[in-house]
Amino acid sequence: AELLRITGLKSQVEDKEILKGLDLVVNKGEVHVIMGPNGAGKSTLANVIMGSPKYEVTEGTILFENEDITEDAVNERAKKGIFLSFQAPQEIPGITVENFLRTAKAQITEKPVKAIQFKKELTEKMKELDIDRSYAQRYLNMGYSGGEKKKNEILQMRILNPKLAILDETDSGLDVDAVKIVSKGVIDFKSEDNAIVIITHHNNILDYLNPDVVHVMVDGKIVDTGDISLANEINKNGYVKYREAKGEAE
Ligand code: ADP
Ligand code: MG
Ligand code: MG
Repeated sequence: AELLRITGLKSQVEDKEILKGLDLVVNKGEVHVIMGPNGAGKSTLANVIMGSPKYEVTEGTILFENEDITEDAVNERAKKGIFLSFQAPQEIPGITVENFLRTAKAQITEKPVKAIQFKKELTEKMKELDIDRSYAQRYLNMGYSGGEKKKNEILQMRILNPKLAILDETDSGLDVDAVKIVSKGVIDFKSEDNAIVIITHHNNILDYLNPDVVHVMVDGKIVDTGDISLANEINKNGYVKYREAKGEAE
């Protein structure tokens, strides 16, 4: 069944057009990878799907389960089952990982989440991800390593159990542990009822994940779509051919 359908999407930030007529369809049960050079607009796309108010949609539509969500606020989209992995912007002393996740779940499900039951669920999920039990009682973002940040994102995803999970992996160099955490978290999460869009160019993640669909994004548009062989080709040859096709002098 179709989960997400983006048609002719244009978006701008501070009067600069970033997404320039983007089309994308994601069905339930699929893992999609989006690759693209720096500045192509991949993170912008992730934020626009999530509904970040920083990005203005000027044209096009976003359908989620055949419903137009283009004008929906972030929290409405979250309740409908869209998830974008996020880092709290700063270290938050006094809020434990456990409390943070429980509050987030209560907000999204709009139901009270009982402490004891949640502790059980969290312990289970953490076990699956090989996360040490002490992690739940740590303060949010205090002295996280790169791998721990990833654990936090994947835990968020597993606890909130979205229909569409968007993981933006472009930021930093992931160490071997982090790659394993992300890959295992995604594989265990994957089902016939959800879909995952992962923004990455990381070879190891691509190998582990075996994505169903690979997209290439250049200059605010999806310019190519294929299977894993497309990712392998790009990791070998880069984005030169797309730039040449556009007539750029880069
Ligand atoms: P990618 O994730 O593919 O590297 P981004 O979506 O981060 O690309 O950025 C695309 C373009 O949009 C870049 O030129 C970037 O400078 C610009 N951009 C993204 N977010 C903002 C923002 N919040 N304010 C201003 N410019 C932005
Ligand atoms: Mg970037
Ligand atoms: Mg990015």
